[in-house]
Amino acid sequence: MPEVANVMDRLVSLAKRRGFVFQSSEIYGGLGSVWDYGPLGVELKKNIKERWWRSMVHERDDIEGLDAAILMHPKVWEASGHLAGFTDPLVDCRQCKNRFRSDDPRIKGSPGQPDAQCPVCGSKGTLTAPRMFNLMFKTFMGPVEDAAAVVYLRPETAQGIYVNYVNVLQSSRQKIPFGIAQVGKAFRNEITPGNFTFRTREFEQMEMQFFVKPGTDQEWFEFWREERMKWLLGLGIRSERLRFHRHTPEELAHYAKDAYDIQYEFPFGWQEFEGIHNRTNFDLSRHQEASGKKLEYLDPATTERFIPYVVETSAGADRTALVVMVDAYHEEEVGGEKRVVLRFHPAIAPLKAAVFPLVNKDGMPELSRRIFDDLRKRHNVFYDDGGSIGRRYRRQDEAGTPFGITIDGQSTQDGTVTVRERDTLRQVRVAADGLAGYLAERLRG
Ligand SMILES: [Zn+2]
Repeated sequence: MPEVANVMDRLVSLAKRRGFVFQSSEIYGGLGSVWDYGPLGVELKKNIKERWWRSMVHERDDIEGLDAAILMHPKVWEASGHLAGFTDPLVDCRQCKNRFRSDDPRIKGSPGQPDAQCPVCGSKGTLTAPRMFNLMFKTFMGPVEDAAAVVYLRPETAQGIYVNYVNVLQSSRQKIPFGIAQVGKAFRNEITPGNFTFRTREFEQMEMQFFVKPGTDQEWFEFWREERMKWLLGLGIRSERLRFHRHTPEELAHYAKDAYDIQYEFPFGWQEFEGIHNRTNFDLSRHQEASGKKLEYLDPATTERFIPYVVETSAGADRTALVVMVDAYHEEEVGGEKRVVLRFHPAIAPLKAAVFPLVNKDGMPELSRRIFDDLRKRHNVFYDDGGSIGRRYRRQDEAGTPFGITIDGQSTQDGTVTVRERDTLRQVRVAADGLAGYLAERLRG
C-alpha cells in the first residue's frame, strides 16, 4: 500500500514544514513517539479543547469543570485496578531483541513454543512466553527513592474526577444526574506506539464523567453516544469516515458494562479516537471501600441512598486533532497547479484570516495594517506582505486559513477589500468597515 503510506508521509511533512507538529527533542535525534505542537498546532488543539469545553461545561447546566493534578495518591491506582490489571502481556525475541504484544497478529504460532516465529527477524523458537508489564509510568516523590515514595503519572484523567466527586457535588450544589469534565495530560508506557501522534506515551484527554442513578445508566449511555457523534459531525468531519464500534464481551474493560468506540478511517485503517463507556459504580465503590469514606448519594426527593453509576465520554485531544488534520488534508489542481489545502472548520482553524497588501506602496501597507490591528483584537489573524499574492494564498491554504483579505489599489480609493474563500476560491469585495461582521458571521458555529 505505497499510496496509503504516502498520504500520511505527506501530512507529517506538511505538519513539520508549517509548524503544526515537531518531533520531540529533534536536535538530539528525537524521543520515540513523543511530539511537540508548533505555532499552528497549538492553536488547532487549543481550539478543539475550547470547543469541547464550551459544549460540555458552558452550554450545559448539569456539568461542572475540574482540573485535578497529574500526581495522585498511589492508593488510587490500587483501588481503580490499574496497579494490578493495567498490563499488557509482552513477548521478547531472544534473537533480535525486539519486544511485541503477545496478541500481535504478525506472530505466527504460540510465543514460548518452538514453532512460534518472530515477525521481525523470522527466527523460530526465539520468542519468550508472554510476561506481564505495567503500563503506568512510575516516579518518586521527595528525596528518597524507596517503595514508600513511589507515585505514578496518571494513566487516565477519570480517577481525578472520581476522588473529587463529593467535593464537586457539594460545592456546586448539583444534583444527580450531573457530570464533571476535565481536560488534561495522561501517560501510558505503550509498547507499540506509532502512526505519528495517534499512539503516544504522553497524551491529552478530554473526559467527562456523568453520574446517574442506577437503572437510568443505559439511557444516559445512549444519550451521550449520540451527543458525541453529533459534536464530531459539527467539527465538519466527513460522516462516511466515522463509525461506532461496540465492544464485544472480550474487549470490555474490567470496569465496563457497555462501551462504544468512535472510530475514524485513517490512511492506516479504522482506529478508535474516542470512547463512550458505562463504567457502572465500579470506580466509586472501589474508592469507597479503599478509602473508608462514604461516596453514596442521598436523593433529596426520595431519601434513597445509592452509589451512582458513571457514563464516561473519553476523547483523545491529540487523536481528535489528528483526525481533524487527516480529514482536512486535500490535494487538488487549481488552474493547472497543484494546491495542498487543509479544509479546517473555520471555528477550529488556527488562523481565521490573513491580511495581504497587494504591493508594499501607495498607502496599501498602512490600510492593511489598520485592518489587521482591528481584526486581531477579535481573532487570531496573520499579516503577510512577502512574495507574490499567489504564493501568499498557497501558504495560507496549507495552514488551513479560511479567509484571505487583499488590500489593493481600489481599496485605498473606495474602502473595499477582496475576501478570498479558501475552499471555494470565490472572491468577493467587502467594505473594510464591515469586515469584522463579515468574518464573525462565517466563523460562528
Ligand atoms: Zn526476532
